[in-house]
Amino acid sequence: MSKSEALWQRAQKFLPGGVNSPVRAWRSVKGKPLFIERAKGAKIYDVDGHEYIDYVCSWGPMIVGHAHEEVIEAIKHTASKGTSFGAPTEVEVELAEMIIKAFPSIEKVRMVNSGTEATMSALRLARAYTQRDKVIKFDGCYHGHADSFLVKAGSGLATLGIPASPGVPEDLTKHTISLPYNDLSGVEDVFVQIGKEIACIIVEPVAGNMGVVLPEEGFLKGLRRVTQRYGSLLIFDEVITGFRVSWGGAQVHYGINPDLTCLGKIIGGGMPVGAYGGKKEIMSLIAPEGQVYQAGTLSGNPLAMSAGLATLKILQRPEVYKELEKKTKQLTEGIKQAAKETGISLQINQIASMFSLFFNDRPVTDYKSVLKSNSDMFIKYFYGMLKRGIYLAPSAYEASFVSLAHTDEDIKRTIEAVYHTFKEIKEE
Ligand code: PMP
Repeated sequence: MSKSEALWQRAQKFLPGGVNSPVRAWRSVKGKPLFIERAKGAKIYDVDGHEYIDYVCSWGPMIVGHAHEEVIEAIKHTASKGTSFGAPTEVEVELAEMIIKAFPSIEKVRMVNSGTEATMSALRLARAYTQRDKVIKFDGCYHGHADSFLVKAGSGLATLGIPASPGVPEDLTKHTISLPYNDLSGVEDVFVQIGKEIACIIVEPVAGNMGVVLPEEGFLKGLRRVTQRYGSLLIFDEVITGFRVSWGGAQVHYGINPDLTCLGKIIGGGMPVGAYGGKKEIMSLIAPEGQVYQAGTLSGNPLAMSAGLATLKILQRPEVYKELEKKTKQLTEGIKQAAKETGISLQINQIASMFSLFFNDRPVTDYKSVLKSNSDMFIKYFYGMLKRGIYLAPSAYEASFVSLAHTDEDIKRTIEAVYHTFKEIKEE
């Protein structure tokens, strides 16, 4: 028995589903997860010593690659001085300043410990600011696991086919309206009916939790316009896209200023983190300045702040985003070519260094079209790639990420693996 299998048997005895986060259990690919021992750069190693080129990148944070020397040094240096004080530190101010410089719509920011905390708190704040209860979200978008967002959500809920989680009171979800992504007129219709009751729209400006789905021309602008007209807030959940789609996230890329922004992943450089920020006027409602309560024993944790800061310092260097985009394009073009040569029909949605493959004949623009993709093909693709040393997210509903550590050789090997996997699938 492999070490991974032995650990999996033990894990299932003591952890629900054997894991601490659902998609890690490889259920939708009907398999057993690999247990990971270490990772360096673009490579990840399981406990049995196998090496893989990693496109999960810890689900987004590892944009500079795993165990980057500068990030590890920053963590070590900070850890040697103590790991948590529950008191203000310089590094949290530095990270806040960096975030505010990068995101023109953020004037003040509050650090938390996860993306879930960021979105949950941003929603509370939006409700307090507008004194309204209703929230509009989009089918297939995922905003963490706070009660109000577990309605037609993406990520693990899409993977496991859970439309709404038990344990969430209907009294709460009756305030959540989930609409099709990219359907502006659907949003406008709801505003015409009950616009004055809507506290906010929350959206992934580029959806990343039903696979990557790009906003169509005018969609985000339309959301900005309609929220402004009705005095509702626009929240961009940039937990994935922040410092990924560009230095200033998707909002700078698309030129839209949301009222509130949620961040996570990259700003913690692989340590647990989240943040939410926005206009001073709104942020000033948060305790202790205002009465909207939100707190955290480990919020602004020095290790997380240092890892985040070190990561952002690397991303700030010239040409970094160009380089990431170039590598990713190289990869997606190579995959398209392999699909053409082997007669596999697929769609690739890509922006900056995030992308998804859909085994689908038609463009993928919302959750409905995502679900029309061939999931059996995905499973074959997943294992074909794994066998060839490529580690992908074990779900058809997740984004793939390219990091600064992925070399031309890694990209070349990945394209070859895609070609041979597709060929094998076709010849079956
Ligand atoms: N929002 C988005 C867009 C996400 O992708 C995620 C997690 N993948 C979250 C929120 C929740 O973040 P966390 O898992 O850190 O709670």
